[in-house]
Amino acid sequence: DGKIWMDGQMVEWRDAKIHVLTHTLHYGCGAFEGVRAYETEQGTAIFRLQDHTKRLFNSAKILRMQIPLTQDQVNQAQVDVVKANGLKSCYLRPLTWIGDRKLGVSPKGNTIHLMVAAWAWGAYLGEDGMERGIRTKISSFTRHHVNITMSQAKAVSNYTNSILANTEALDDGYDEAILLDASGFVSEGSGENIFVIKDGVVYTPDLSAGALNGITRNTVMHICEDLGLEVVQKRITRDELYICDELFFTGTAAEVTPIREVDRIQIGEGRRGPLTEKIQKAFFDIVNGRNPK
Ligand code: PLP
Repeated sequence: DGKIWMDGQMVEWRDAKIHVLTHTLHYGCGAFEGVRAYETEQGTAIFRLQDHTKRLFNSAKILRMQIPLTQDQVNQAQVDVVKANGLKSCYLRPLTWIGDRKLGVSPKGNTIHLMVAAWAWGAYLGEDGMERGIRTKISSFTRHHVNITMSQAKAVSNYTNSILANTEALDDGYDEAILLDASGFVSEGSGENIFVIKDGVVYTPDLSAGALNGITRNTVMHICEDLGLEVVQKRITRDELYICDELFFTGTAAEVTPIREVDRIQIGEGRRGPLTEKIQKAFFDIVNGRNPK
């Protein structure tokens, strides 16, 4: 139930439909965002709204899709959807896709559509995981072995490997997958960036490993600096994960989620590490407006 913003109009949840001959459904060229709004003392606030909208437009640009709206209009659409649904804290999903006017690989002559949906969504990898840490495995699927140039687009087609990796992890009894790049360096989770802590220094893969330039990743890097922690972006190997002190994922959906196990190897003390807890707390203070930056 509720309302979805679709091409400039607020439509009922059940009426927000597309045709089976929609180009994106056949060829996978489309882009989306994941955004969160939090209840703060000043009311509901969408965290880093403009940055998410900008990344959506950049994703579309990489895919040569011309969104027929301004970034301001897409910002406003997100504010309106939250209001129209009476939501306080929620997840937002803007999506842009190529329409159903004609089929064939070429998208030329087709219409570009955009919608924004919003719903209440708790801890993506589970409340329990937020406190105790989650269990992960290195995936047999790599990140973007097909096309590294697309790693910065939140493109629909980029998620096939993410889906396969996540499904494999769940089927094997883990909570989430960690994907390596084609050379074997650590890239990211199926929908999360990864951070490693060793001897008080914070490491995260540099973007050449094909990880998305996460907005939460960026926020967490600033938090670490504020906490006086050195942050280093570098190539990270699988075995560096096994012997690190603390490990965690970041993402709009996953927020800051500790990792307590990789490939059945215990990380650190096998629970949320003390620096991870500090960073997690600082993150929630910021998004909930208790320490606005
Ligand atoms: N990596 C992938 C593949 C993602 O889908 C996401 C989610 O958006 C992230 C990383 C984390 O990015 P952000 O913090 O901007 O949500």
